[in-house]
Amino acid sequence: MGTTPGFVCSHHHLYSALVRGMPAPPQTPTNFLEILEQVWWRVDTALDLEMLEWSAKLGALEALKSGTTAIVDHHESPNAIEGSLSVIADACAEVGVRVVCSYGVTDRHGPDGATAGLAENERFIKDGGRGMVGIHAAFTCEQATIDAAVGLAEDLDVGVHVHVAEGFTDAGSGAALARRSKENWLLVHGVHLPDGLSFAGMMAHNPRSNMNNSVGYADPKRFGGRVVLGTDGIGADMLDEFRLAFVKLREDNVTTTPQTPWNWLENGWMLVPEAEADEVTWNYPTMDPWHLAYTTGVHPIDITVEGEKVLDNGVTTKVDEAEVRAKAAEQAKRLFAKL
Ligand SMILES: [Zn+2]
Repeated sequence: MGTTPGFVCSHHHLYSALVRGMPAPPQTPTNFLEILEQVWWRVDTALDLEMLEWSAKLGALEALKSGTTAIVDHHESPNAIEGSLSVIADACAEVGVRVVCSYGVTDRHGPDGATAGLAENERFIKDGGRGMVGIHAAFTCEQATIDAAVGLAEDLDVGVHVHVAEGFTDAGSGAALARRSKENWLLVHGVHLPDGLSFAGMMAHNPRSNMNNSVGYADPKRFGGRVVLGTDGIGADMLDEFRLAFVKLREDNVTTTPQTPWNWLENGWMLVPEAEADEVTWNYPTMDPWHLAYTTGVHPIDITVEGEKVLDNGVTTKVDEAEVRAKAAEQAKRLFAKL
């Protein structure tokens, strides 16, 4: 059977695991900003720490069952900020998945919300947590908040994890922030960044999310060798995202080979190098990109993380999958009742 290292989901929102099947919003969103307002910003204000715990366990479990052993998460829960990153990190550890946490700082909930978000990033990282300083996006932050987050990341010697130019709304402010980026930053989307804009760090491409939100095509080839693949909260099946990234490239240019999106997938090991030592055995004989680009239903059988077998013949060893799914379903009900 084929083997690979563990894959990295380079941009995720683990709290999305509970949101599938949520009640329809009061008004049907007609553009990206309305999707944020009608769906995500109603969801994130309703989250509490118990919901976060089970959403993270379910998200981590689904990642593992897709061969993804590391997640770079971007989190927001404005009414449950303090301690949130530890809840997510502990939940992932319980399942056996590596996680890099960040709290997305924003001024959408006033200056106190921004201060609490900064404090949560600082608390988590100073306590020894694996993290980056999160910023939601430049267009939802005051300049002073952005400056404070950038300064905090420098003080803590970690990168900034931020959405840039996902929609038109953030084109100008996102580009301005991207120009300030450093080598250890993780920028996300970059759909509306101008060609040739100079930035440092990595750019997370999330093809399924971009299509789902109708924000346009990021055309990540223009970012050179700095592209990584994320899901933006729609699961963590990186072979699936690779296949989607590939056909999107082919739609533009039929001479594209699967090596391009495969390189994006492998670039995830620049963000979480330890995952390259994880061992995944698959139910398919060859893990060649040309095969995988056209083969669905490829799943891991066994996974070893840090010397510990966390998936054994398709079964999670550290948590009971049925229990995680049942508890997460209860929390989803609680969440939907609050919307
Ligand atoms: Zn995102």
